[in-house]
Amino acid sequence: MNVGNCSRCRKLYQVNSRKLCPECVKEEEAQFDAVRQFLREHDPVDAQGLSEALSIPVERVIQFLKEGRLIETVSIEYPCESCGTLIRTGRLCEPCRQSRETATREIANQLRRELGAEGNRHNAASAPGYYSSRKRM
Ligand SMILES: [Zn+2]
Ligand SMILES: [Zn+2]
Repeated sequence: MNVGNCSRCRKLYQVNSRKLCPECVKEEEAQFDAVRQFLREHDPVDAQGLSEALSIPVERVIQFLKEGRLIETVSIEYPCESCGTLIRTGRLCEPCRQSRETATREIANQLRRELGAEGNRHNAASAPGYYSSRKRM
């Protein structure tokens, strides 16, 4: 039996995929139901409005949204983790996701270029590393 501390109330519990003890799972499910119920009966509100209407921490509301479990009910907006633009799914808005992808690609390309240049230098017979490695052989 795998026992750990509940990630919310720190109580010992039998570890499960939710990383929460049964009581916290029950509490979270109840909050989730409340959110879903509220969204069915009301016009879409933002995460802050939901949090206030249901007295659920706004982080919890956003967590539900990020888990994507509310999408089929209604789409409500919450801030992009990078720039704060209101988004409806995932963690980043479209421009941030794209610029992050571009940045990642650029860093990868730059690294490849630098490694390539480095490799060429090492291959040149004049590189000090060339001789020292030869001597050891
Ligand atoms: Zn707990
Ligand atoms: Zn953004």
